[in-house]
Amino acid sequence: MSHTRKHLDTIAVHAGTPTPRVLGAVVTPIFQSAMYEDDGAGAYHDIRYIRLNNTPNHAAVQAKLAALEGAEAALVTSSGMAAITTALLTVLRAGDHLLIQNSLYGGTHAFVTRDLEGLGISFSFIADDDPGSWEAKLTPATRAIYVETISNPLMRVPDLEAVAAFAKKHGLVSMIDNTFATPVNFRPVERGFDLSLHIATKYLNGHSYVASGAVVGAEGLVGRIKYKLDHLGGSLDPHACFLLERGMKTLALRVRRQNENAQKLASALDAHAAVARVHYPGLVGHPAHARSARLFDGMGGMLSLELAGGLGATDRFMHALTIPAVAPSLGGVESLVTRPALTSHSDLPPEERRALGITDSLVRVSVGIEAADDLVEDFEQALSRAA
Ligand code: PLP
Repeated sequence: MSHTRKHLDTIAVHAGTPTPRVLGAVVTPIFQSAMYEDDGAGAYHDIRYIRLNNTPNHAAVQAKLAALEGAEAALVTSSGMAAITTALLTVLRAGDHLLIQNSLYGGTHAFVTRDLEGLGISFSFIADDDPGSWEAKLTPATRAIYVETISNPLMRVPDLEAVAAFAKKHGLVSMIDNTFATPVNFRPVERGFDLSLHIATKYLNGHSYVASGAVVGAEGLVGRIKYKLDHLGGSLDPHACFLLERGMKTLALRVRRQNENAQKLASALDAHAAVARVHYPGLVGHPAHARSARLFDGMGGMLSLELAGGLGATDRFMHALTIPAVAPSLGGVESLVTRPALTSHSDLPPEERRALGITDSLVRVSVGIEAADDLVEDFEQALSRAA
């Protein structure tokens, strides 16, 4: 089938399905075999073996993902961090320098600030919406620039067009964690990015039952990352590939519903007297609202908020909610709430967290596919009980 002429909804369902179908099976079967017959005549990386990321289940899910983002190739990994670290360690070597957005997921922040230096790789943080300040941070050793499409947990939207253009101008590899946007709302490769990364644990799977990651981009670069992954060993098991492929078939339906629900919930929270601040790119008051409206097909299912009543009220609010579970992670069909200072960003030194604007009482909401009216009603009753 020709994927480029199809709509995203059709690609999500059909792309990657083996042709001809395996024994006529409508769904890609799980090939739970660690290795395949091989007489050793081919190259090492082509030996069919789970760690080498090339079973039929890898092929199916990777082809679907590449088609969804309009890219040449994709690679799945055993977690989001496996995708991020393997991609960074492919693009950078000892002596190299990285430019990276200052406000991002705690695990990525910790890897860059604690692990890269020990490997001889240096980095500089950049202000994500001030391209004029980036040139001063460049060094002759700068090789890559890294941002999140919508940042975790403050929902910042960097000047994405400027990032891709800056990378082209200076010969850098542009890397973007596209988890919060998903291919439904933003397709980085179509916008000039070299590598799009996904925490497939989140929206791509969409059901909170598998950990996985993904790297999407041009065949040559993704191929180099596959070789590194083959060596580092962060491959995804075929059963997890199957679960990921199954989840991705409903990606477009889920994400569009989550976009709608989050917009309704963000608007209701923004208008509520007990709420001091809502971070959501779909709100006109968001600093990057105009850019988001221009670049995104939807504003995503993630938002964060701060209550006017501080930490005590926040705690009462979270525990008065009856629909969302209080749990880290995101992107599933069920709504979740978490305080990043205690979970996803607890590894950051408190003073650094505060300097970034991640207060102790910030609540991150992953909006699910429940009925929007039920969610709004539940959040409003919890706010009234928190006062
Ligand atoms: N990047 C972002 C934006 C995330 O939210 C997360 C997890 O919450 C990760 C990376 C790490 O993903 P994983 O837990 O699958 O390694």
